[in-house]
Amino acid sequence: RAKEHKVGQAIEFSASHAESQLREAVVHQALKKADLEKELRLVFQPIVNSTDGAVNRCEALARWDSPQLGSVPPLEFVAIAEKMGMTQQLTRVVVRKALEQLRRWPELPSMSVNLSAQDIISRETSDSLVAMILAEPESVRERLVLEVTESSLLNDMEEARYNLMKFRFMGLKIALDDFGTGYSSLRYLQELEFDIVKIDRSFGAAINTTARGLGLVATIQHLCRSLAIECIIEGIETREQLETARSAGCRLVQGYLYAAPLDALELHAYLTGEKKFPSYRELLEGPARD
Ligand code: C2E
Ligand code: MG
Ligand code: MG
Ligand code: MG
Repeated sequence: RAKEHKVGQAIEFSASHAESQLREAVVHQALKKADLEKELRLVFQPIVNSTDGAVNRCEALARWDSPQLGSVPPLEFVAIAEKMGMTQQLTRVVVRKALEQLRRWPELPSMSVNLSAQDIISRETSDSLVAMILAEPESVRERLVLEVTESSLLNDMEEARYNLMKFRFMGLKIALDDFGTGYSSLRYLQELEFDIVKIDRSFGAAINTTARGLGLVATIQHLCRSLAIECIIEGIETREQLETARSAGCRLVQGYLYAAPLDALELHAYLTGEKKFPSYRELLEGPARD
């Protein structure tokens, strides 16, 4: 968990405004000079079918090891890359590395990558991604999932719709990430044909603490089922949360209960069967892990 810790440090660091501006300038400079192909790497967090413990897919998450700054949290450098207008470069590296990994893992059902807000409303970026993805064989291409967040759809839904349609024509699936945190979550479901919804991890975390938490997750799950949308719940950290999530109908789970984001070798062990996640029944019967 050492890496997750750094996120907390970054938040503390930004407590003072002047300091946070300085930090932003420093990250900006480092990002400008960065050789992203070298300095950016992907980690992979499994999304598990809780019924049998099988890896349903994984999410590729970017890690930047800057020679000057050390590891910079993705929320920090993605936000700065957006301000700098350089997300196309970043996303191209991420998608290229994800495709490369998908080629190496024919046994992995699918892998998702995150697009940043600007990518979805940029014709240029989406066309350049389309060209890159089209160069792949269909067996690789159709296992790529693109995650977009609700907030990124806010600015220009028409352009987003057009660009996402291009990807869907190529056989990609589109996931709506951080579901429930945007301004018009339901409207996005109506306007855009998402294949997958990822319930934001704040709901996963709150599922046991309030009756409303459970009610909301159960309702989202039901909504997805009636629209034939796959539903993934994020941020499940404890067995109790998993139990409650399952009682709300959730089966596909992403969270620290199973695994933090793993490096390629670690995830590989689950794909070969060398390691296995416990089924739900085994989890309940087994010794306490929390
Ligand atoms: P996200 O797409 O919603 O990714 C899930 C985040 O939740 C990841 O943080 C993951 O490590 C964390 N997480 C997973 N399970 C748990 C859990 O049980 N508890 C808690 N507390 N956290 C959990 P990470 O890797 O730090 O990424 C943060 C965000 O940065 C991502 O949120 C995504 O918005 C963005 N990001 C990461 N990689 C990329 C990328 O390649 N491109 C873009 N545009 N954004 C990225
Ligand atoms: Mg995501
Ligand atoms: Mg998410
Ligand atoms: Mg999130």
